Amino acid sequence: MEAKQAKQTWAKACEYLTSAISTDVYNRWIGVIEAIGDDRPGQLTLTVPNGFYQDWLEEHYLPMIRKALGISRLENLTIVFTVDNSRPPAEVPAATRPAVEKDVSAKRKVLKTCNVGGALNPRHTFDNFVVGPSNSFAHAASLAVVEAPGRAYNPLFVHGGTGLGKTHLIQAMGQAVLERGKGTVCYTTCETFTNEFIQALQQHELGAFRRKYRHIDLLLIDDIHFLAGKESTQEEFFHTFNSLYENQKQIVMTSDRPVSEIANLQKRLVSRFEWGLCTEMEMADLETRVAILRRKREQLRIQLPDDALFFIAEHVRSNIRKLEGSLLRAASYASLTRKPLTIEALEYLLRDTIEQENQTALTIEGIQRVVAEYYDIRLGDMTSKQRPQNIAFPRQVAMYLCREMTDHSLPSIGNSFGRNHATVLHAHRSVGMKMKTDAGLRQTILSLQQRLGGVTAPS
Ligand code: ADP
Ligand code: MG
Repeated sequence: MEAKQAKQTWAKACEYLTSAISTDVYNRWIGVIEAIGDDRPGQLTLTVPNGFYQDWLEEHYLPMIRKALGISRLENLTIVFTVDNSRPPAEVPAATRPAVEKDVSAKRKVLKTCNVGGALNPRHTFDNFVVGPSNSFAHAASLAVVEAPGRAYNPLFVHGGTGLGKTHLIQAMGQAVLERGKGTVCYTTCETFTNEFIQALQQHELGAFRRKYRHIDLLLIDDIHFLAGKESTQEEFFHTFNSLYENQKQIVMTSDRPVSEIANLQKRLVSRFEWGLCTEMEMADLETRVAILRRKREQLRIQLPDDALFFIAEHVRSNIRKLEGSLLRAASYASLTRKPLTIEALEYLLRDTIEQENQTALTIEGIQRVVAEYYDIRLGDMTSKQRPQNIAFPRQVAMYLCREMTDHSLPSIGNSFGRNHATVLHAHRSVGMKMKTDAGLRQTILSLQQRLGGVTAPS
C-alpha cells in the first residue's frame, strides 16, 4: 500500500498495541517500527533497525500485530518486515529518526523486475551462508547452478531435515541469479504452487498460471515433498517440469526426504527428479555451528561473549533454526536485564530447548552405542566392514531401530554405518520379519527401545 495509507494503518494498529502490552515492551519492540509505502496493494511494509528486531518481531509479535490489524478489519494484509540499514543500531524512538526509504525501495525495484515468485528474504544470501562439511556439497552444486543455470545440474534436488538451511540456500541462488542479471526467477513453495494451481482451475485461469511458471529461467520450488499423494498437482507439475527442462531452464527443488522416500509420487516424476543432481544437507558439526553463531552475532550486532556461543553450539545440535532462536533468546535476555550472561542463566533460559535436544540426541550414534553395549560388542563394530554373525546381527538391529526411532533418511542411516541405503532397507525388513516369529527378539527390541527412552511397543 502507499505510504500515507501505510502510516495511517500502522497508527491504528499501534493504538491497540499500546493498550495490549506494557509500555516497556512497546517502547522497545513496537516503537521502533515504521510503516513505509510500497507498490503492493495488499501489503503493509514495516521497517526495523536491524535483523535482530526483524527476527524477534516475526517470532514473537507477529500474531499480536495481526490481531491489532484484525481489530481494524485489516487481517488480510500481508505484513513484511524489512531492515533499514541506514538507521542507527541503538534503540532510538521512532519519532526522533529521519524516515529513510530510498535504500529499501531501490532494492525492491531490482527484485520486482525479475522475480515473479514469492519474496526472497534479503538475509538469505550466499554471503551469509556458512559452509562446513555438512553442506559443502550442496553449496558447491548451488554455486555451479548459479554460474550456468540450466546447464550445470538440471534439476538440482536438495534434501535434508528441517531447519538445516535448504530454503536459505535456494533463496541465495535466486538472489545471485537476479544480481547477475541472469534471468527471471520464480521462488515458490510447493504448497503455494498447489494452491495457485487449484485456484487457477476453479477460476478458469490455467493459461495465466502456466504463463507464470513456464516463462522463467529459474524455478526454485521449496518443500517439493508436499506433492506426495496430490495426483492432479503432480500432473501439472510434470508438464511444468518438462516445459522448463526442454527449454533448458533451471529447476531447483528442496525436500525433507530423498526422492525415493516421497510417498505416492508418480514414477515419471521420481525419475525426472533424479535426472540431475541429488544432494543431501546434514546438521552442521560443532565448528560450523559456532561459525554460524558468530556470523549471526556480527550480522545482528549482538553482544554476547564467545563462551555463551560455545554453550549454545554445544547444546543445540539438531537444527540451525533452533540454534538461531537460542542465540536471539540469550541476546534479548542479556540486553533486557543488562546483566552479564552466566552459564547458569543460559542453562535456565534454554532449558526447554536443551531438554528437547537431549531427547533427539537419540541420534544414530546414540542408538549404535546402546545396541553395542547391549550385545557387548565395540561401538566400532557398528561401522566396521567385518561380517561375523555376532556383529552383523546387532548391526542390523541398530539399523532397524534407527529407521524406527529417528527421522533420518535411509541413505543417511546407511552412511552412519558405512553402508548404503539398500543395506539399511534389507536390515529393517529382515529384523521386522524375524520379530514376527521370534518372541525373544521382540522382547529384546522392546527393552532396547525402553533404554533409548522412546516408543513403548514394537510395531
Ligand atoms: P530449511 O529450509 O532446511 O528448513 P532454513 O533454510 O529455513 O532451513 O534455515 C533455518 C535457519 O537457519 C535460517 O534462518 C537460515 O538462515 C539459517 N541457516 C541454515 N543454514 C545456515 C548456514 N549454513 N549458514 C548460516 N545460516 C544458516
Ligand atoms: Mg525450508
